Amino acid sequence: MNNGMNENLQIRTYKKSGHIEVIAGSMFSGKTEELIRRIRRAQIAKQRVKVFKPKIDDRYSETSIVSHSEQSFPSEMVESASEIPDKCFDYEVIGIDEAQFFGKELVDICQMLADSGKRVIVAGLDQDYKAKPFEPMPQLLAIAEYITKTLAVCVVCGAPANRTQRVSAENERVLVGGKDHYEARCRLHHTIVE
Ligand SMILES: [Zn+2]
Repeated sequence: MNNGMNENLQIRTYKKSGHIEVIAGSMFSGKTEELIRRIRRAQIAKQRVKVFKPKIDDRYSETSIVSHSEQSFPSEMVESASEIPDKCFDYEVIGIDEAQFFGKELVDICQMLADSGKRVIVAGLDQDYKAKPFEPMPQLLAIAEYITKTLAVCVVCGAPANRTQRVSAENERVLVGGKDHYEARCRLHHTIVE
């Protein structure tokens, strides 16, 4: 009898390893669009998908994530990252948009979800408008298996841009979104407004 061996084989066959994918970049770099593309492909592959976004982001839709190019996918809005795990039992692929608006607790939650065998796809701004790393993205980038840096186009010179220029007088770090307050800029044309 070698039941032990059969058990190991079963574990190997049935327990799937999860992982974390991070999509990071400036505003207007297509992060949400890329997240939606991956989630749609998973859905086509008949995987059960679920997408979350933080409550702070209600610029276009309360029930969907929406890219600047107006693609959308249904999502659930949560007040904090701690609400996410309980809502994930029935899903294999978890999408999280606007990760920079969740606190550092999102890092442990992504680890936990990936440890339990799920594919976790997280999109977020990697720098604030002062070009400072935007937590918890640095920590997420460190623990992720796969990283995609998306680049926008500098509105001044057309070069690839990974920075977000604030062009309004607001100085909130988490000023939510609109095209009116921010522009994508390259390193050369980005200036820090205090
Ligand atoms: Zn430029």
